[in-house]
Amino acid sequence: MARAHICDVPRCGRPRQRWQRPCATCLSRLKEAFQQRRFRDHRLFKKRAAAHLAGPPRHDPVTPQQAFANTERLLGER
Ligand SMILES: [Zn+2]
Repeated sequence: MARAHICDVPRCGRPRQRWQRPCATCLSRLKEAFQQRRFRDHRLFKKRAAAHLAGPPRHDPVTPQQAFANTERLLGER
């Protein structure tokens, strides 16, 4: 007679397949939690990536007048 296999999840006690550690119910719950965690991590990663692409905090944006003055200085006209 085949040995009974019990789910590894504490207080579950449901029978499981021989080749799986948790039963089908716990396995689907585990997958669900894994996916939810991944989505949260994914969002966090996207936020970090956006911050990285934005670069370090910038100074005041350059006005057209300032840009013109910068160009003049570079060209030695001032
Ligand atoms: Zn279970």
